[in-house]
Amino acid sequence: MAKLRFEALKKLNERGKVHSELSTPHISQFFGENVFGMEQMRATLAPAVFKKVSSAIKNHEKIDEATADAVASAAKSWAIAKGATHFTHWFQPMTGGTAEKHDSFFDALAGIEKFKGSELVQQEPDASSFPSGGIRSTFEARGYTAWDPTSPMFLYGRTLSIPTVFVSYTGETLDTKSPLLKALKAVDLAATSVCQLFDKDIQHVVASLGSEQEYFVVDKALFNARPDLVMAGRSVFGHAPARGQQLEDHYFGAIPSRIYDFMRDFEIECWKLGIPVRTRHNEVAPSQFEVAPLFEEVNVANDHNQLMMDIMNRVGEKHELKILFHEKPFAGVNGSGKHNNWSLITDTGVNLYAPSSSARDNLLFLTFFVTTIKAVHEHADLLRASIATPGNDFRLGANEAPPAIMSAFIGSQMTSVLDELEKNGNLKIEKGDNMYMKLGIDQIPEIILDATDRNRTSPFAFTGNKFEFRAVGSSDNCATAMTVLNLIVADQLDKFFAEVSKLIDKGEEKRLAIVTVLRKYIKESKDIRFEGDGYSDEWVKEAEKRKLGNVKNMPRALDAYLSKKSLDLFEKHEVLTHKEVEARNEIRLESYIKRVQIEARVMGDLAMNHIVPTAIAYQSKLIENARGLKELGFADTKSVLQTIKEISGHIDTIKNGVRAMVEERKRVNKIAEAHKRAVAYCDDIKEKYFDVIREAVDELELLVDDEDWPLVKYREMLFLR
Ligand code: ADP
Ligand code: MG
Repeated sequence: MAKLRFEALKKLNERGKVHSELSTPHISQFFGENVFGMEQMRATLAPAVFKKVSSAIKNHEKIDEATADAVASAAKSWAIAKGATHFTHWFQPMTGGTAEKHDSFFDALAGIEKFKGSELVQQEPDASSFPSGGIRSTFEARGYTAWDPTSPMFLYGRTLSIPTVFVSYTGETLDTKSPLLKALKAVDLAATSVCQLFDKDIQHVVASLGSEQEYFVVDKALFNARPDLVMAGRSVFGHAPARGQQLEDHYFGAIPSRIYDFMRDFEIECWKLGIPVRTRHNEVAPSQFEVAPLFEEVNVANDHNQLMMDIMNRVGEKHELKILFHEKPFAGVNGSGKHNNWSLITDTGVNLYAPSSSARDNLLFLTFFVTTIKAVHEHADLLRASIATPGNDFRLGANEAPPAIMSAFIGSQMTSVLDELEKNGNLKIEKGDNMYMKLGIDQIPEIILDATDRNRTSPFAFTGNKFEFRAVGSSDNCATAMTVLNLIVADQLDKFFAEVSKLIDKGEEKRLAIVTVLRKYIKESKDIRFEGDGYSDEWVKEAEKRKLGNVKNMPRALDAYLSKKSLDLFEKHEVLTHKEVEARNEIRLESYIKRVQIEARVMGDLAMNHIVPTAIAYQSKLIENARGLKELGFADTKSVLQTIKEISGHIDTIKNGVRAMVEERKRVNKIAEAHKRAVAYCDDIKEKYFDVIREAVDELELLVDDEDWPLVKYREMLFLR
């Protein structure tokens, strides 16, 4: 039974080195060589055409047919010159991951390579097998993908890949990108209006994202010998190794050489595709690592993150490594997140979350800062819902991950700035430039520069010139969280603008009007601010007192999408219709159910077909042994009998647990309504049985002869490479 495990370990020990050498240390010489971006368009398109394309991108406008034809033709020539034979629309359906369907440029009828503007702009993959949450009935199974010109085309392998949105024939969005683009437009409009209170030169505001991607790496042979990793991406059994992360020696430690080779190799591929990966290091848990790019415009950054995950999987194959993006592949050690560093930057180059040396600009900074905190306060539940994935349920609130309670950390200095501003509410402020001094706003830059206090336990933290949304799961598509964050900030900025305008209309001086509204926001959103230890029990109690949500599981967290407040918010900014939000929730619930169901099945199979037979076989050996001892006249067989008894106990627990869980699944599967079924899968299957069964299996792992144990052990997966 344990054959597979030992074969896998043997393979691991015999692995040779896989090496890729850089042809030049000057990354600048090949960075983006496989991207058909702005530069390539500028070089290959007629100036008038290029102008049309770039203005359409900037202003969220449609591109006309003639322009599309010109772009298609230029892209085709570029791609074919680089060896491409096919093109594909590349999109991000609600299944997670990316999807593509390749068509060749070669038209056999005409005998030439062709690529029309209409093929660039629109394609019709058969949408019927992508999840739609009931939007599409079977007779209208068609959907189409449509070109997103704001994210550059790229050459992947020998295929020209075109980033696209994915919509049903009746116009409902079926992917993660479309609502993101709409939320980004909303935040651009809202933020620009607010900026113009300060500076009329600002025409656009762009949201930026730098996502730090955490992941685990396991040798391919070991991975393949763990059916749970193969089927569910997570180990459902495995006793904690003697050594975990308690030595704290992994974080920022020397990168193991096999992993280093893998990193170098996937980074090269990323650079060619214009993905600005920059930082690499070990993470806290053994075999856990991180890669972080330089930040980019949110939509492009997210496409790059999706593409990078794919590249990592492919390059991993070459190195006989498996990359685990699951939020909690191993119990007892840290889980993985995808910290979303986010800020808003004007087209004049001002980062709106960076305090500056001028008092005037600091009022602008404070406006965005306070409004963002207020938005998080207003929509904390929706923000929580936006990061719900089946895997994240195992991570949030676990001892090392941000809690399921949404709060914002701003640091002690910003706390005192806000306190000061709030306290001096009744102060009579002189007009003129002095006013800034009186507000204490001129002091911010000095304060922030030495703001070294970092709180790693907060789900949403201000880190000097950006916010870091840390609760996002490592397997997730950032678009979901980014849609909500940009949307709620857009909405709050709109409200801010309206409130300030009203005061101005009443004759209030502009700066005073701004400060008045900010003061109000500071007061109203105080409860969402928390500077202490987010992992502590005290915070759970305190948060309860403050009436902050602490929703621990995905099916319940998703409810926040369906509140009237949320539905109205999505509709008001034309991000998603009621129907679309409902359909999306349905898809997420179904996916949650399937994931828990798969885990439950894998658990049952492993327990009954691998663990129990192994335990019984070992128990029989012990029984033989006890009999032999008795025959030889040893009176005291207590210890071996005790082990036999313990093993029996665990076997009983497992068998009873698995049987009861199977029965429960039969019952739960009959529940018609998806939400109720998902909640039942959570409460009556996952919560009720997973830990009980696992505990018994993990105990058996300690009792049964190592030679007989069929599953690759934690110490082997986490420490051998
Ligand atoms: P830290 O290590 O403190 O989290 P880093 O400077 O290493 O911060 O940045 C982490 C990530 O945040 C990187 O991806 C970086 O590009 C990104 N980042 C930095 N500034 C911004 C910004 N203004 N907007 C969005 N992301 C940013
Ligand atoms: Mg960070």
